[in-house]
Amino acid sequence: MRTAHAVAAGTLVAVVSVLGAPAGAVSPTTSAPRAVLTVQVATSASRPAVVERVVVGHSRKGREIVAYRLGDPEARRSAVVIAAMHGDERKPQAILRNLRDGSPISGLDLWVVPNANPDGVARKARRNARGVDLNRNFPRRWKASKRGPTWSGPKAASEPETRAMMRFLRKVAPDQVVSFHQPLYGIDTSGTGNRPLARRLAKHLRLPKRSFSCGSGCHGTMSQWFNHRLDGQLVTVELGRRPSKAYLTRTAPKGLLKALGGTRP
Ligand SMILES: [Zn+2]
Repeated sequence: MRTAHAVAAGTLVAVVSVLGAPAGAVSPTTSAPRAVLTVQVATSASRPAVVERVVVGHSRKGREIVAYRLGDPEARRSAVVIAAMHGDERKPQAILRNLRDGSPISGLDLWVVPNANPDGVARKARRNARGVDLNRNFPRRWKASKRGPTWSGPKAASEPETRAMMRFLRKVAPDQVVSFHQPLYGIDTSGTGNRPLARRLAKHLRLPKRSFSCGSGCHGTMSQWFNHRLDGQLVTVELGRRPSKAYLTRTAPKGLLKALGGTRP
């Protein structure tokens, strides 16, 4: 995903590129193209932190899943931050939007995906349009389950949203990933142990370190897949049910950047 071209101020360059294989699912409602469109945007006055915008895939209903690259692509450290994989856990989106729409970031190659489940968000529902819990659909310790709030889908990685995130994470291969959820209030240390990233997140996001077991044991979660498959570390962060506006727009963006190793004025 690293791009070599410099973009002159005021220009807009569109490059069509394919992030791995196209998602195989056919959208029932649209004929959205499956090729991944990369649009490299010049730094603009309205969003000075954004250096690249990538459509990483489409939802089952054909909605775009967008990643924004912020900060310094040449930085030593890289990170991906994801929100709203469960569409009824939308508060953390404000943290990512604050970073996206704020001042330029330095010291970190940071990607944010503010809406990992656009169909769920549109319906204010946990699952995607097919009724699958995307955080049980990843191909690591995937297990069949009954239809319901945590339905894992008909098979591992059956959902276009899951495959889009897998392609994107494989391509970027970030050192650090943070996946935001609600409302369990804590930094999940169950899959990660007490590693430095979890400690830093707990300190700077002012949340307790806890162990979340997914109820009856975790199967097919993004953190299980990523932490097994890729050479980085994914930590799940659960905010409370009603984080304050001050927390979402000041404390958390600042704390998240600090935990990941970036700065902004
Ligand atoms: Zn969740």
